[in-house]
Amino acid sequence: MSVPATAHVDLAAISHNVGVLREKAAGAEVMVIVKADGYGHGIIPVAHAALAGGASRLGVASLAEAMLLRRAAIDAPMLCWLYGPGEPFHEAVAADVDLSAGSVRLVEEIADAAVRAGRTARLHLKADTGLSRNGATPADWPSVVDAALRAQSEGHVRVVGLWSHMACADEPGHPSIASQLKVFADAVELAEKAGVRPEVRHLANSAATLTIPEARYDLVRPGIAAYGLSPIPSHPASDGREGRNFGLRPAMTLTGRLVIAKRVGPGTGVSYGHRYTTERETTLGLVPLGYADGIPRAGTNLLEVWAAGSRRRIAGTVCMDQFVIDVGDDEIHAGDEVILFGPGDRGEPTAQDWADLLGTISYEIVTRIGARVPRAYDGGPA
Ligand SMILES: *Cc1c(COP(=O)(O)O)cnc(C)c1O
Repeated sequence: MSVPATAHVDLAAISHNVGVLREKAAGAEVMVIVKADGYGHGIIPVAHAALAGGASRLGVASLAEAMLLRRAAIDAPMLCWLYGPGEPFHEAVAADVDLSAGSVRLVEEIADAAVRAGRTARLHLKADTGLSRNGATPADWPSVVDAALRAQSEGHVRVVGLWSHMACADEPGHPSIASQLKVFADAVELAEKAGVRPEVRHLANSAATLTIPEARYDLVRPGIAAYGLSPIPSHPASDGREGRNFGLRPAMTLTGRLVIAKRVGPGTGVSYGHRYTTERETTLGLVPLGYADGIPRAGTNLLEVWAAGSRRRIAGTVCMDQFVIDVGDDEIHAGDEVILFGPGDRGEPTAQDWADLLGTISYEIVTRIGARVPRAYDGGPA
Protein backbone atom coordinates (compact mmCIF):
# COMPACT_ATOMS: atom_id res chain seq x y z
CA MET A 1 0.00 0.00 0.00
CA SER A 2 1.33 3.42 -0.82
CA VAL A 3 0.41 6.41 1.30
CA PRO A 4 0.62 9.94 -0.06
CA ALA A 5 3.06 11.25 2.53
CA THR A 6 5.04 9.89 5.46
CA ALA A 7 7.33 11.24 8.14
CA HIS A 8 9.83 8.41 8.57
CA VAL A 9 11.45 8.43 11.99
CA ASP A 10 14.73 6.59 12.48
CA LEU A 11 14.55 5.51 16.12
CA ALA A 12 18.05 4.02 15.97
CA ALA A 13 19.28 7.52 15.10
CA ILE A 14 17.58 8.88 18.23
CA SER A 15 19.18 6.19 20.40
CA HIS A 16 22.54 6.92 18.73
CA ASN A 17 22.18 10.67 19.34
CA VAL A 18 21.37 10.08 23.00
CA GLY A 19 24.55 8.01 23.17
CA VAL A 20 26.51 10.95 21.74
CA LEU A 21 24.92 13.24 24.33
CA ARG A 22 25.70 10.81 27.13
CA GLU A 23 29.35 10.94 26.18
CA LYS A 24 29.25 14.73 26.11
CA ALA A 25 27.48 14.73 29.48
CA ALA A 26 30.58 13.11 30.93
CA GLY A 27 28.85 11.32 33.78
CA ALA A 28 25.90 13.65 34.22
CA GLU A 29 22.46 12.07 33.78
CA VAL A 30 20.63 12.69 30.52
CA MET A 31 16.99 13.82 30.52
CA VAL A 32 15.72 13.79 26.94
CA ILE A 33 13.08 16.41 26.25
CA VAL A 34 10.08 14.92 24.44
CA LYS A 35 7.64 17.87 24.58
CA ALA A 36 5.60 18.89 21.54
CA ASP A 37 5.02 15.27 20.49
CA GLY A 38 8.70 14.49 20.67
CA TYR A 39 9.54 17.58 18.56
CA GLY A 40 7.06 16.28 15.99
CA HIS A 41 8.62 12.80 15.85
CA GLY A 42 6.01 11.07 18.05
CA ILE A 43 6.29 11.26 21.82
CA ILE A 44 5.82 7.58 22.75
CA PRO A 45 8.23 5.91 20.28
CA VAL A 46 10.75 8.71 20.89
CA ALA A 47 10.51 8.22 24.65
CA HIS A 48 11.26 4.50 24.28
CA ALA A 49 14.17 5.19 21.90
CA ALA A 50 15.61 7.82 24.24
CA LEU A 51 15.50 5.47 27.21
CA ALA A 52 17.00 2.68 25.10
CA GLY A 53 19.81 5.07 24.16
CA GLY A 54 20.70 5.71 27.80
CA ALA A 55 18.48 8.57 28.91
CA SER A 56 17.58 8.09 32.56
CA ARG A 57 14.79 10.70 32.62
CA LEU A 58 12.31 12.40 30.31
CA GLY A 59 11.19 16.02 30.26
CA VAL A 60 7.96 17.54 28.97
CA ALA A 61 6.36 20.97 29.12
CA SER A 62 2.72 20.29 30.00
CA LEU A 63 0.99 18.10 32.56
CA ALA A 64 -1.03 16.57 29.71
CA GLU A 65 2.17 15.42 28.02
CA ALA A 66 3.41 13.84 31.25
CA MET A 67 0.12 12.02 31.77
CA LEU A 68 0.19 10.78 28.17
CA LEU A 69 3.58 9.16 28.83
CA ARG A 70 2.37 7.59 32.08
CA ARG A 71 -0.77 6.24 30.40
CA ALA A 72 1.55 4.59 27.87
CA ALA A 73 3.17 2.80 30.83
CA ILE A 74 6.42 4.74 30.57
CA ASP A 75 7.49 4.81 34.19
CA ALA A 76 10.87 6.55 33.87
CA PRO A 77 11.52 9.57 36.10
CA MET A 78 9.92 12.54 34.42
CA LEU A 79 9.86 16.31 34.88
CA CYS A 80 7.14 18.68 33.78
CA TRP A 81 7.40 22.44 34.07
CA LEU A 82 4.88 24.60 32.25
CA TYR A 83 1.53 25.29 33.88
CA GLY A 84 -0.34 27.91 35.80
CA PRO A 85 -2.43 27.85 38.94
CA GLY A 86 -5.40 25.52 39.13
CA GLU A 87 -4.03 22.72 36.97
CA PRO A 88 -4.51 19.08 38.10
CA PHE A 89 -1.23 18.76 40.02
CA HIS A 90 -2.66 16.00 42.24
CA GLU A 91 -2.86 13.74 39.16
CA ALA A 92 0.78 14.39 38.35
CA VAL A 93 1.82 13.75 41.96
CA ALA A 94 -0.20 10.53 42.04
CA ALA A 95 1.50 9.50 38.78
CA ASP A 96 4.95 10.19 40.28
CA VAL A 97 5.73 13.03 37.87
CA ASP A 98 8.32 15.53 39.15
CA LEU A 99 7.02 19.10 39.16
CA SER A 100 8.79 22.41 38.87
CA ALA A 101 7.97 25.48 40.91
CA GLY A 102 9.41 28.97 40.68
CA SER A 103 7.04 30.85 42.95
CA VAL A 104 5.77 30.57 46.52
CA ARG A 105 2.25 30.29 45.19
CA LEU A 106 3.09 27.24 43.05
CA VAL A 107 5.06 25.58 45.88
CA GLU A 108 2.02 25.92 48.13
CA GLU A 109 -0.40 24.76 45.48
CA ILE A 110 1.70 21.69 44.73
CA ALA A 111 1.98 20.95 48.48
CA ASP A 112 -1.84 21.06 48.72
CA ALA A 113 -2.08 18.76 45.68
CA ALA A 114 0.29 16.34 47.39
CA VAL A 115 -2.01 16.21 50.43
CA ARG A 116 -4.93 15.50 48.11
CA ALA A 117 -2.94 12.80 46.27
CA GLY A 118 -1.82 11.26 49.55
CA ARG A 119 1.78 11.22 48.38
CA THR A 120 4.90 13.41 48.64
CA ALA A 121 5.41 15.66 45.62
CA ARG A 122 8.86 15.63 44.02
CA LEU A 123 9.78 19.25 43.41
CA HIS A 124 12.44 20.96 41.28
CA LEU A 125 12.83 24.60 42.28
CA LYS A 126 13.36 26.78 39.25
CA ALA A 127 15.56 29.86 39.30
CA ASP A 128 15.24 32.58 36.68
CA THR A 129 18.92 33.19 36.00
CA GLY A 130 18.41 35.51 33.06
CA LEU A 131 15.94 34.07 30.55
CA SER A 132 13.01 35.91 32.14
CA ARG A 133 10.49 33.17 31.46
CA ASN A 134 9.57 30.85 34.33
CA GLY A 135 11.39 30.65 37.64
CA ALA A 136 12.12 32.86 40.60
CA THR A 137 14.28 35.95 40.17
CA PRO A 138 17.25 36.23 42.53
CA ALA A 139 15.14 38.61 44.63
CA ASP A 140 12.33 36.04 45.02
CA TRP A 141 14.52 32.94 45.25
CA PRO A 142 15.06 32.95 49.06
CA SER A 143 11.32 33.02 49.77
CA VAL A 144 10.69 30.20 47.28
CA VAL A 145 13.40 28.10 48.92
CA ASP A 146 11.88 28.84 52.36
CA ALA A 147 8.39 27.90 51.23
CA ALA A 148 9.68 24.65 49.75
CA LEU A 149 11.64 23.74 52.90
CA ARG A 150 8.54 24.46 55.00
CA ALA A 151 6.41 22.18 52.80
CA GLN A 152 9.20 19.60 52.94
CA SER A 153 9.30 19.66 56.74
CA GLU A 154 5.54 19.07 56.74
CA GLY A 155 6.12 16.01 54.55
CA HIS A 156 4.20 17.30 51.54
CA VAL A 157 7.07 17.82 49.14
CA ARG A 158 10.65 16.72 48.68
CA VAL A 159 12.96 19.15 46.92
CA VAL A 160 14.77 16.85 44.49
CA GLY A 161 16.04 19.39 41.99
CA LEU A 162 17.42 22.88 41.55
CA TRP A 163 17.33 24.14 38.00
CA SER A 164 17.25 26.89 35.43
CA HIS A 165 17.27 27.39 31.66
CA MET A 166 19.64 29.31 29.40
CA ALA A 167 18.85 32.16 27.02
CA CYS A 168 21.80 32.14 24.59
CA ALA A 169 23.62 28.82 24.97
CA ASP A 170 23.45 28.54 21.17
CA GLU A 171 25.63 31.66 20.81
CA PRO A 172 29.06 30.60 22.09
CA GLY A 173 30.71 33.45 23.98
CA HIS A 174 27.50 35.39 24.55
CA PRO A 175 27.98 37.36 27.79
CA SER A 176 24.70 36.07 29.22
CA ILE A 177 26.22 32.57 29.43
CA ALA A 178 28.78 33.46 32.09
CA SER A 179 26.24 35.61 33.86
CA GLN A 180 23.63 32.83 34.01
CA LEU A 181 26.22 30.32 35.21
CA LYS A 182 27.11 32.67 38.07
CA VAL A 183 23.51 33.44 39.03
CA PHE A 184 22.72 29.71 38.99
CA ALA A 185 25.75 28.83 41.12
CA ASP A 186 24.65 31.47 43.65
CA ALA A 187 21.07 30.16 43.67
CA VAL A 188 22.31 26.60 44.25
CA GLU A 189 24.62 27.76 47.04
CA LEU A 190 21.84 29.68 48.77
CA ALA A 191 19.43 26.74 48.59
CA GLU A 192 22.02 24.22 49.78
CA LYS A 193 23.04 26.48 52.68
CA ALA A 194 19.36 26.70 53.62
CA GLY A 195 19.26 22.91 53.80
CA VAL A 196 18.15 21.73 50.37
CA ARG A 197 19.77 18.40 49.37
CA PRO A 198 18.88 17.99 45.70
CA GLU A 199 19.31 14.79 43.70
CA VAL A 200 20.08 16.86 40.64
CA ARG A 201 21.07 20.40 39.70
CA HIS A 202 20.49 21.12 36.02
CA LEU A 203 20.84 23.91 33.52
CA ALA A 204 22.00 22.61 30.13
CA ASN A 205 19.90 22.36 26.97
CA SER A 206 21.36 20.76 23.82
CA ALA A 207 23.65 23.66 22.99
CA ALA A 208 25.05 23.82 26.53
CA THR A 209 25.41 20.03 26.71
CA LEU A 210 27.54 20.10 23.57
CA THR A 211 29.60 23.22 24.22
CA ILE A 212 29.50 24.44 27.85
CA PRO A 213 31.02 21.88 30.24
CA GLU A 214 30.42 24.10 33.31
CA ALA A 215 26.67 23.98 32.62
CA ARG A 216 26.39 20.19 32.88
CA TYR A 217 26.09 19.80 36.67
CA ASP A 218 24.29 16.54 37.57
CA LEU A 219 21.91 16.31 34.64
CA VAL A 220 21.60 17.68 31.12
CA ARG A 221 18.33 18.31 29.27
CA PRO A 222 18.89 17.99 25.52
CA GLY A 223 15.95 18.19 23.14
CA ILE A 224 16.81 19.07 19.56
CA ALA A 225 20.15 17.25 19.53
CA ALA A 226 18.44 13.98 20.44
CA TYR A 227 16.54 14.32 17.16
CA GLY A 228 19.83 14.77 15.34
CA LEU A 229 19.53 18.47 14.56
CA SER A 230 22.22 20.91 15.55
CA PRO A 231 21.38 23.50 18.21
CA ILE A 232 24.27 25.60 16.82
CA PRO A 233 24.18 25.24 13.02
CA SER A 234 26.97 27.81 12.60
CA HIS A 235 29.31 25.89 14.91
CA PRO A 236 32.47 24.47 13.27
CA ALA A 237 31.49 21.00 14.50
CA SER A 238 28.18 21.45 12.77
CA ASP A 239 28.94 22.05 9.13
CA GLY A 240 26.31 19.56 8.00
CA ARG A 241 28.68 17.16 6.25
CA GLU A 242 28.09 13.53 7.02
CA GLY A 243 29.81 12.45 10.19
CA ARG A 244 30.05 16.01 11.46
CA ASN A 245 27.08 17.83 12.99
CA PHE A 246 28.53 17.01 16.44
CA GLY A 247 28.20 13.36 15.36
CA LEU A 248 24.41 13.62 15.44
CA ARG A 249 22.13 12.03 12.88
CA PRO A 250 18.83 13.64 11.81
CA ALA A 251 16.02 11.24 12.68
CA MET A 252 13.19 12.52 10.50
CA THR A 253 12.80 12.07 6.75
CA LEU A 254 9.67 13.56 5.21
CA THR A 255 8.54 12.01 1.95
CA GLY A 256 5.57 12.31 -0.38
CA ARG A 257 4.44 10.49 -3.51
CA LEU A 258 3.63 12.42 -6.65
CA VAL A 259 -0.11 12.54 -7.24
CA ILE A 260 0.23 13.43 -10.91
CA ALA A 261 2.96 14.32 -13.41
CA LYS A 262 2.16 16.14 -16.63
CA ARG A 263 3.64 18.07 -19.54
CA VAL A 264 2.61 21.69 -19.88
CA GLY A 265 3.54 24.38 -22.38
CA PRO A 266 5.64 27.51 -21.94
CA GLY A 267 4.06 30.41 -20.10
CA THR A 268 1.85 28.19 -17.93
CA GLY A 269 0.85 29.79 -14.63
CA VAL A 270 1.30 27.42 -11.68
CA SER A 271 -0.65 27.23 -8.38
CA TYR A 272 -2.61 29.99 -6.60
CA GLY A 273 -1.82 33.49 -7.72
CA HIS A 274 0.33 32.23 -10.58
CA ARG A 275 3.42 33.17 -8.65
CA TYR A 276 5.37 30.81 -10.91
CA THR A 277 5.20 30.65 -14.70
CA THR A 278 6.92 28.01 -16.81
CA GLU A 279 9.59 29.32 -19.16
CA ARG A 280 9.35 26.50 -21.69
CA GLU A 281 7.58 23.22 -22.21
CA THR A 282 8.20 21.26 -19.06
CA THR A 283 6.97 18.55 -16.68
CA LEU A 284 5.17 19.44 -13.46
CA GLY A 285 4.71 17.10 -10.49
CA LEU A 286 2.16 17.53 -7.72
CA VAL A 287 3.24 16.74 -4.13
CA PRO A 288 0.37 16.09 -1.68
CA LEU A 289 1.71 18.07 1.29
CA GLY A 290 0.84 21.65 2.14
CA TYR A 291 0.89 24.22 4.87
CA ALA A 292 -1.73 22.25 6.82
CA ASP A 293 0.94 19.57 7.05
CA GLY A 294 3.64 21.99 8.16
CA ILE A 295 5.16 22.91 4.79
CA PRO A 296 5.57 26.65 5.38
CA ARG A 297 3.65 28.79 2.90
CA ALA A 298 6.64 31.12 3.08
CA GLY A 299 8.45 28.31 1.23
CA THR A 300 6.66 29.34 -1.97
CA ASN A 301 9.21 29.51 -4.85
CA LEU A 302 11.92 29.02 -2.25
CA LEU A 303 12.27 25.61 -0.60
CA GLU A 304 13.82 22.68 -2.39
CA VAL A 305 12.89 19.01 -2.37
CA TRP A 306 14.59 15.95 -3.86
CA ALA A 307 12.90 14.38 -6.89
CA ALA A 308 14.15 12.27 -9.80
CA GLY A 309 17.76 12.51 -8.70
CA SER A 310 18.12 16.22 -8.02
CA ARG A 311 16.96 19.13 -5.95
CA ARG A 312 13.86 20.94 -7.26
CA ARG A 313 12.56 24.25 -6.04
CA ILE A 314 8.88 24.42 -5.11
CA ALA A 315 7.14 26.00 -8.12
CA GLY A 316 4.59 28.58 -7.06
CA THR A 317 2.44 28.91 -3.98
CA VAL A 318 2.43 26.25 -1.27
CA CYS A 319 -1.28 25.44 -0.84
CA MET A 320 -3.05 23.95 2.18
CA ASP A 321 -2.66 20.36 0.98
CA GLN A 322 -0.25 20.40 -1.95
CA PHE A 323 2.50 22.07 -3.93
CA VAL A 324 4.00 21.72 -7.39
CA ILE A 325 7.54 21.07 -8.62
CA ASP A 326 8.93 21.74 -12.10
CA VAL A 327 11.38 19.06 -13.23
CA GLY A 328 12.00 20.29 -16.79
CA ASP A 329 12.56 17.40 -19.18
CA ASP A 330 13.45 14.86 -16.49
CA GLU A 331 11.24 11.85 -16.23
CA ILE A 332 8.82 11.61 -13.34
CA HIS A 333 5.66 9.62 -12.85
CA ALA A 334 2.67 9.65 -10.56
CA GLY A 335 3.56 7.55 -7.52
CA ASP A 336 7.26 8.51 -7.56
CA GLU A 337 8.72 9.33 -4.17
CA VAL A 338 9.83 12.87 -3.38
CA ILE A 339 12.02 13.54 -0.33
CA LEU A 340 11.21 16.89 1.23
CA PHE A 341 13.94 16.77 3.85
CA GLY A 342 16.01 14.15 5.64
CA PRO A 343 19.53 13.50 6.87
CA GLY A 344 20.90 14.64 3.50
CA ASP A 345 22.52 11.31 2.58
CA ARG A 346 20.90 11.06 -0.82
CA GLY A 347 21.31 14.73 -1.67
CA GLU A 348 18.00 15.79 -0.22
CA PRO A 349 17.77 19.02 1.79
CA THR A 350 17.91 18.84 5.57
CA ALA A 351 15.45 20.47 7.99
CA GLN A 352 18.35 22.86 8.67
CA ASP A 353 18.51 23.78 4.97
CA TRP A 354 14.81 24.65 5.06
CA ALA A 355 15.24 26.62 8.27
CA ASP A 356 18.14 28.61 6.77
CA LEU A 357 16.09 29.58 3.71
CA LEU A 358 13.10 30.56 5.85
CA GLY A 359 15.06 32.49 8.48
CA THR A 360 13.99 30.16 11.27
CA ILE A 361 15.38 27.23 13.27
CA SER A 362 15.16 23.51 12.52
CA TYR A 363 13.02 23.05 15.65
CA GLU A 364 10.17 24.89 13.94
CA ILE A 365 10.39 22.77 10.79
CA VAL A 366 10.12 19.37 12.50
CA THR A 367 7.69 20.28 15.30
CA ARG A 368 5.16 21.66 12.83
CA ILE A 369 4.83 18.57 10.64
CA GLY A 370 1.11 18.04 11.03
CA ALA A 371 -0.94 15.27 12.57
CA ARG A 372 -2.30 14.35 9.12
CA VAL A 373 1.12 13.03 8.12
CA PRO A 374 1.52 9.45 9.37
CA ARG A 375 4.75 8.67 11.21
CA ALA A 376 6.53 5.45 10.27
CA TYR A 377 9.18 4.07 12.61
CA ASP A 378 12.37 2.20 11.74
CA GLY A 379 15.01 0.82 14.03
CA GLY A 380 13.07 0.95 17.28
CA PRO A 381 14.21 -0.71 20.49
CA ALA A 382 13.20 -4.36 20.60
C1 LIG B 1 12.80 22.71 25.34
C2 LIG B 1 13.61 22.73 26.56
C3 LIG B 1 14.84 22.07 26.63
C4 LIG B 1 15.51 21.45 25.41
O1 LIG B 1 16.02 22.47 24.60
P1 LIG B 1 16.86 22.12 23.28
O2 LIG B 1 17.35 23.42 22.79
O3 LIG B 1 15.88 21.50 22.33
O4 LIG B 1 17.92 21.19 23.68
C5 LIG B 1 15.47 21.99 27.85
N1 LIG B 1 14.95 22.57 28.95
C6 LIG B 1 13.79 23.27 28.91
C7 LIG B 1 13.27 23.91 30.14
C8 LIG B 1 13.09 23.40 27.72
O5 LIG B 1 11.96 24.11 27.68
